[in-house]
Amino acid sequence: VNILAIESSCDETSASIISNGKILNNIVATQSVHEKYGGVVPELASRAHQQHLIPVVHEAIVSSGIDKNALTAVAFTRGPGLMGSLMVGVSFAKSFAYALDIPLIAINHMEAHILAHFIDEPKPSFPFICLTVSGGHTQLVLVRDHLDMEVIGETMDDAVGEAFDKTAKLLGLPYPGGPFLDKYAKEGNPKAYQFPISDMPDLTFSFSGIKTAVLYFLRDHLKDNPQFVEDNLADICASVQYTLIKTLMQKLKKAAKQYKIKEIAIAGGVSANSGLRDELENLSSQLGWKVYIPKFEYCTDNAAMIAMAAHYKYQKGDFCGLDVSPEARMKI
Ligand code: ATP
Ligand code: FE
Ligand code: MG
Repeated sequence: VNILAIESSCDETSASIISNGKILNNIVATQSVHEKYGGVVPELASRAHQQHLIPVVHEAIVSSGIDKNALTAVAFTRGPGLMGSLMVGVSFAKSFAYALDIPLIAINHMEAHILAHFIDEPKPSFPFICLTVSGGHTQLVLVRDHLDMEVIGETMDDAVGEAFDKTAKLLGLPYPGGPFLDKYAKEGNPKAYQFPISDMPDLTFSFSGIKTAVLYFLRDHLKDNPQFVEDNLADICASVQYTLIKTLMQKLKKAAKQYKIKEIAIAGGVSANSGLRDELENLSSQLGWKVYIPKFEYCTDNAAMIAMAAHYKYQKGDFCGLDVSPEARMKI
């Protein structure tokens, strides 16, 4: 079984080939056009996907050493994501499957982020809880089996990656700001300043408050000292990061306790954050958790995770018709 998988939900165009459950490659073209706008511009993203998709698929097929006529299925991200971006991947996947007369497999991007844990060893055992933290999502997911997942908590407003990026923008850091905030935080004191930790019921997150809190905090300090940010960048970054991680960990601990689960997985781009990784390591020794973090390449948007999800769906014979359309707000 050889499956070609395509990812185009946001600003990464990616293709991957999985052969009998083994990922052969993961070709990713990152769009740089958005940098100067400080955020993803949907219309530019769709156009860039159109430019990148054929070369990326070509490279995946050629480097896999598998003839295109030996492909058994084509998988693609159906949602959630930007409608225009998804449309490019879905249309391409449909025509490719139609031309080769092979089945199509529709994949949920958020399920795929979680299934990235099954690409390499060690793999979490069921049931586990996955904290998915990315630019667009913050979710706690109870994973009972590869294709049996339930969202047990999520954000009611901004995603945590968005909170990283928006506060970084207020501090004048380049886009996307998350990795820069992480870098400066390493040199700073996480207790230097205090920001409010949102107090939401149950397993619900909220990250819109911190952005406003940082905005007012900066306004007040800049009045007295126009150099305030330059003078205290590391401490501000460390304090913001500390607050964001603390918010995440509070709910993760609550979920683990409530469901009596110690197998804990992290997915999405924010899992690259060094403070988050350190804190998870602490908690694993404190609470006896087994923590799983995928390779960074499989944390951010990539087609290998789509291919992995397709592998499980193929085994179940879960195919879709040529009349399938993208679903921008697709749920797990
Ligand atoms: P989604 O998967 O929800 O559609 P997305 O594609 O934007 O959203 P990813 O590509 O998985 O999300 O992750 C990007 C996010 O990860 C950005 O918000 C970025 O700032 C953040 N990020 C990456 N590295 C770090 C880091 N070291 N610390 C904090 N945030 C980080
Ligand atoms: Fe993603
Ligand atoms: Mg991205």
